[in-house]
Amino acid sequence: MNTEVREIGHWIEGVEQTPAGARTADVFNPAAGAVSGRLALADAGDIDRAIASAEAGYRVWSEYSVAKRQAVLFSFRELLNAKKSELAAIITAEHGKVLSDAMGEIARGQEVVELATGFPHLMKGAFTENASTGIDVYSLKQPLGVVGIISPFNFPAMVPMWFFPIAIAAGNAVVLKPSEKDPSAALWIARLWQEAGLPDGVFTVLQGDKTAVDGLLEDPRIASISFVGSTPIAQYIYETAAKHGKRVQALGGAKNHMLVLPDADLDLAADQAVNAGYGAAGERCMAISVVLAVEPVADSLIEKIAERIAGLRVGDGAGVDGVEPDMGPLITREHRAKVAEYVDIAEGDGATIVVDGRTHVVQGCEDGFFFGPTLIDRMPTESRAYREEIFGPVLQVVRVSSFQEAVDLINSGRFGNGTAIFTNDGGSARRFQHEVEVGMIGINVPIPVPVAYHSFGGWKASLFGDAKAYGAHGFEFFTREKAVTSRWLDPAGRHGATQSSINLGF
Ligand code: NAD
Repeated sequence: MNTEVREIGHWIEGVEQTPAGARTADVFNPAAGAVSGRLALADAGDIDRAIASAEAGYRVWSEYSVAKRQAVLFSFRELLNAKKSELAAIITAEHGKVLSDAMGEIARGQEVVELATGFPHLMKGAFTENASTGIDVYSLKQPLGVVGIISPFNFPAMVPMWFFPIAIAAGNAVVLKPSEKDPSAALWIARLWQEAGLPDGVFTVLQGDKTAVDGLLEDPRIASISFVGSTPIAQYIYETAAKHGKRVQALGGAKNHMLVLPDADLDLAADQAVNAGYGAAGERCMAISVVLAVEPVADSLIEKIAERIAGLRVGDGAGVDGVEPDMGPLITREHRAKVAEYVDIAEGDGATIVVDGRTHVVQGCEDGFFFGPTLIDRMPTESRAYREEIFGPVLQVVRVSSFQEAVDLINSGRFGNGTAIFTNDGGSARRFQHEVEVGMIGINVPIPVPVAYHSFGGWKASLFGDAKAYGAHGFEFFTREKAVTSRWLDPAGRHGATQSSINLGF
């Protein structure tokens, strides 16, 4: 394992910059539990330089023809496709997820890049000839200017890619503030954009903490904010950005339930619960964290899930001798302690710990931030450990007696990000999709992240604002419309405008 500590800086004006004397934060390799990087945290001067450079980039980029913009996007897509294993290795080294999962997140981000290459079609305006005699009305879609993206640690490549391909395709310049826990993926992406021919300043990376975030929220040169992270911060971002007159979309946390009806294929449900509960060590906003087992299936389902957990391998996400584990470590030591505390709370509140990951140790990685897969039965729904997001490899089972009890429980929660139903009854599935107050639904599909040409976003405390990420919502968010009413005099002297059009104010 590499023990060298790298300096990690901002990407401003097309170069990586590590300002002398900057405040810094340690970046870890979570499998080793060791510091791997020292990150420069932005101060007011860095924020100002980043935004000024983005403004200059915007002035150049927004004047590029559609064809030239499209050529850069295609080039970025080709380079990303050719080199994505480099990016996956960076993600695994700082986040900890297994390499194949890092490749998976890049693939889902690449989908949005591919959608964005079709922007000329998606950004076309509309034209009405002769709205009044001799008068045409049409609409143009124009970029917003410099847009801010603030992203969480759990998808250092995919979440920024939910936004920046569309923002850039639409002619905006982007300032990305990645998570300070895994900041290097953003720098790799910045270099790739440069190689693809994007003018300097159009994609800027501002590293930092709350100071950098507040700088973006308050600066009048930033036109919009796209945020993904935990709910309390999402709410703060939404309110503060709106107060400063910005367009804002702020995606928050989750507590996703999987409903298993008695007629479901229990082997399929158990496979998918394990996959969606423990993949990426549960650090996914679309992870399944609660299984609602409609009796009498609970005993049998829990037995099947426990059997599968016994086969899970936990270890360094990079693999050992070419063999990849199923699950890597958590992001930080503090986060591991917080996850353990939630399991303690559940136990204290009367839940049964069926599989306990609190003392899991990975041989050869004794200092890593590992937490074993944990299965909890008879989870009391009044417990804080049920109501709050844990964001770790902890699956809670709540036994319910009916479909309706399950739906009522889901709808009583504060989050509304994702949910899934496992059943062989189409009528129940249809009723579920109609009644459940959640933004993304899976039917016999555990992690229903919509494809790029639909849009991603939850309801309630999982999304503040009215614009989801990517798809049609993405193009709406990153453009503003202008309506033009125009009259050109006929060269033959027929003036076209009639008395009635003049009376209409034309
Ligand atoms: P986080 O809210 O701690 O951090 C997200 C971003 O906000 C980071 O860039 C961070 O630097 C910044 N930030 C943190 N505290 C701040 C503060 N006080 N003021 C200003 N900025 C601040 O989230 P995280 O721990 O990085 O990510 C995990 C969370 O993100 C989970 O809650 C997860 O559900 C959520 N998430 C949601 C989605 C979704 O699509 N809804 C997707 C991925 C992750």
